[in-house]
Amino acid sequence: MLNSQKNLQYYKFIARVQISIYLYKLYMLHKSFDLAKITNSKKKFNNMLKLEHLGIAVKNLSEADELYGRLLGTGPYKREKVPSEHVTTSFYRAGEVKIELLEATSDESPIARFIKTRGEGIHHVAFEVQDIALEIQRLRSEGFQVINEQPKKGADNKLVAFVHPKSVGGLLVELCQEIS
Ligand code: ZN
Repeated sequence: MLNSQKNLQYYKFIARVQISIYLYKLYMLHKSFDLAKITNSKKKFNNMLKLEHLGIAVKNLSEADELYGRLLGTGPYKREKVPSEHVTTSFYRAGEVKIELLEATSDESPIARFIKTRGEGIHHVAFEVQDIALEIQRLRSEGFQVINEQPKKGADNKLVAFVHPKSVGGLLVELCQEIS
């Protein structure tokens, strides 16, 4: 009787030790997964520098300039035609971030098509990147549909490439890199 009680206590003790070892292993595994995630995300995101500008589609640039001039309390610092995109743009500064107003110069312009289907408003979000060619490769390898395989000359002295809104939950993303 005494012996079997001792045996039971012994097995209970062994079971507790085994469960503790198992839980410790599980905890270490979880920790190493978390560490891997953090190290990977650091590696992946260091090419994106900042939100550079918001692109806003407008029907009439003169009227929009008047409206945004009043909204931001300052006039545009630049007005520029971009023949390749069939647009005229106005650029404003709002602290660190810029606002780019875009007016279509022809019916072929993506801005004309955008306004026809969705009306005026935010058209794209632009991120400044350190190395645009590298970022195009990275996003493609992540499964994003990059529209421009090669970066092209955009407005405001930048190389640009766009990521299709279908692959970004409806958001058109522009990558841009200052031409030095
Ligand atoms: Zn833009």
